[in-house]
Amino acid sequence: NIPQLSHKVQVIEKILSKNNAMADEIRDEWDKHNITCFNLMSSPGSGKTTTLENLSDKLPYKFAVIEGDLETSRDAERLRDKGIWSFQLQTGRACHLDAGMVKKALPEFPYEDVEIAFIENVGNLVCPASYDVGAHYNIVFVSVPEGDDKIEKYPVMFRKADLVVITKCDMVEYFDFDIDRAIESARKLKPDVPVILLNNKNGEGLDKLIEWIKSKRGEYVLSNTK
Ligand code: MG
Ligand code: ZN
Repeated sequence: NIPQLSHKVQVIEKILSKNNAMADEIRDEWDKHNITCFNLMSSPGSGKTTTLENLSDKLPYKFAVIEGDLETSRDAERLRDKGIWSFQLQTGRACHLDAGMVKKALPEFPYEDVEIAFIENVGNLVCPASYDVGAHYNIVFVSVPEGDDKIEKYPVMFRKADLVVITKCDMVEYFDFDIDRAIESARKLKPDVPVILLNNKNGEGLDKLIEWIKSKRGEYVLSNTK
């Protein structure tokens, strides 16, 4: 039934435009405090939280994390154990974060103490891609055990990526994951997207991730102080 479908589309568009306006307000807040915000997206279990834990000793900036999960505060607690300020958003049944949820973390956010904010989105390769959460850059993780076909299967997500991080690279010999094919798939969707290979077990690739974050932080500071 076509009229009903078009009504549904209008409702979704209205929700998204409201979300986008709120995301712009969040970005204004970051910009006022000269904070660069990165949105981390991936399926569950790809290593977003582990990467943040590993960055805590190495990244030459102070950072804070807004965590999104359906249930539990486990990830926020893991980061607090590392001395990182983190706020857990529990989404209940919602399988993505939206700008309204992120806004709830802002009254307590330590604006004066950090230069970088990470938003760790709910583990899901589908709808987080459709909701602007007020970040400046998107990092999309895909882990080797998931298979390299996930990039082609979830194009909306990978088109949004400013950086693709392939995690669990130490397991590449055990899974059907061809690194070259993965990079090619990612660049078909987003030409020239940088791809970093990461092994959180021995820290290989972490220096490259840090270099990329530093370069984006540099670009951001330049554009924000103009
Ligand atoms: Mg996590
Ligand atoms: Zn969702």
